[in-house]
Amino acid sequence: MERYYQPEIETAPREKIVALQNERLSATVRRVYENVPFYRNKMEQAGVTPDDIRTIDDLHKLPFSYKQDLRDTYPYGLFAVPLKDVVRLHASSGTTGKQIVVGYTRNDLEVWDECVARALTAAGCTDEDIVHVSYGYGLFTGGLGADGGAKRIGATTVPVSSGNTQRQVTILKDFGSTILCCTPSYALHIAEVLYANGYTKDDIKLKAGIFGAEPWTNEMRRKIEEMLGLTAYDIYGLTEIIGPGVAFECKEQTGMHVNEDHFIVEVIDPDTGEVLPEGTQGELVFTCITKEAFPILRYRTRDIGVITRGKCSCGRTLVKMTKPRGRTDDMLIIRGVNVFPSQIETVLLEKGYTANYQIVVDRANNFDSIEVQVEISNEIFSDTVRGLAERAKELAAALKTLLGVTAKVTLLEPNSIPRSEGKAVRVIDKRKLLD
Ligand code: ADP
Ligand code: ZN
Repeated sequence: MERYYQPEIETAPREKIVALQNERLSATVRRVYENVPFYRNKMEQAGVTPDDIRTIDDLHKLPFSYKQDLRDTYPYGLFAVPLKDVVRLHASSGTTGKQIVVGYTRNDLEVWDECVARALTAAGCTDEDIVHVSYGYGLFTGGLGADGGAKRIGATTVPVSSGNTQRQVTILKDFGSTILCCTPSYALHIAEVLYANGYTKDDIKLKAGIFGAEPWTNEMRRKIEEMLGLTAYDIYGLTEIIGPGVAFECKEQTGMHVNEDHFIVEVIDPDTGEVLPEGTQGELVFTCITKEAFPILRYRTRDIGVITRGKCSCGRTLVKMTKPRGRTDDMLIIRGVNVFPSQIETVLLEKGYTANYQIVVDRANNFDSIEVQVEISNEIFSDTVRGLAERAKELAAALKTLLGVTAKVTLLEPNSIPRSEGKAVRVIDKRKLLD
């Protein structure tokens, strides 16, 4: 039987959620207008007042917020409460530039724990579980976010944080951890080290994994599930909104339910800003409607996804978003063709390669080049030189068919690509260094 953390919300009729959203949105807009000069100025420029925002149908009237706004008001300019009411600060991991800072009141932390508790419960976690958290603890939201949700459920939390993979394996085995939380790329690395030590999935007790913070494909999911003997669930979030737990996956594994009583999601055309109908791919935009310290409005995530409201077999009625295929800024434009690293990952895993790969993009004489470097297994590595050349050729042809551009393929010996302990670095774009 399906278990929910808060069935009254997770399986609520749509009207109930909409009523909550209407009320919370108008209150939040009024509060930020009164307390944050940044939002008041922006709304005045757009010619809207809090009286214009009564229901979610008025949302589109509000101006967007961007990462740059957080940088311009760094560190505390978007906070809507006095600093004395802020009990925790977090900062983004700075994947794309200068770091940004967000704050939480005591109540914001409660809301966050609740969101993550829903995600853990959907993955089957109860107070009998041992939750091994290998997301980094610290300013990054992953570690403390997962920790808070596990504690809320009453599970036994193991706050390992990331790194020292050998020790992670020992702890997984000795403590009998049943649920693993980390990035998907780190889960794979932990699996590699487990096997390198002569163990297999039969030596550990993991039953579920909650993996997020970076894009990953379904092929990667199957690989992790097979190696660690668990069911892998996706979890989505970002520092600007709350951290992990903005949306979470259920057993159906076909997308993530958005915690709509706290966050309103929209999908827009990234070029025109126009709101797109459900089922259409575009940029995900979130509005926080319960946050006290950092209630950001219409935040442009740059993540590309689709939302759908079809019936889910788990019984949840919360809207679902697809696994984001990457950010608009992860998208590579190679000789005019759009390429997402996740498309390359799909081909590599389908063709039996490892998920240890890196994409190197360069430009010479105004001509973009793309090289896919991927590690091969020990058995393949002992193949003849001719055999290897044949393989590289076959992979290049498969990539060409899928991407529409020619990529150079370089097969590397095992363990030559640096392993990730957090978010994997998949792309080295040398063109950016030239700008
Ligand atoms: P940074 O922006 O410095 O990477 P965050 O930790 O806030 O810091 O990262 C949030 C971003 O991570 C999201 O905007 C999204 O691009 C990515 N992300 C988080 N969870 C997922 C997921 N489940 N699938 C794909 N991408 C994800
Ligand atoms: Zn579901």
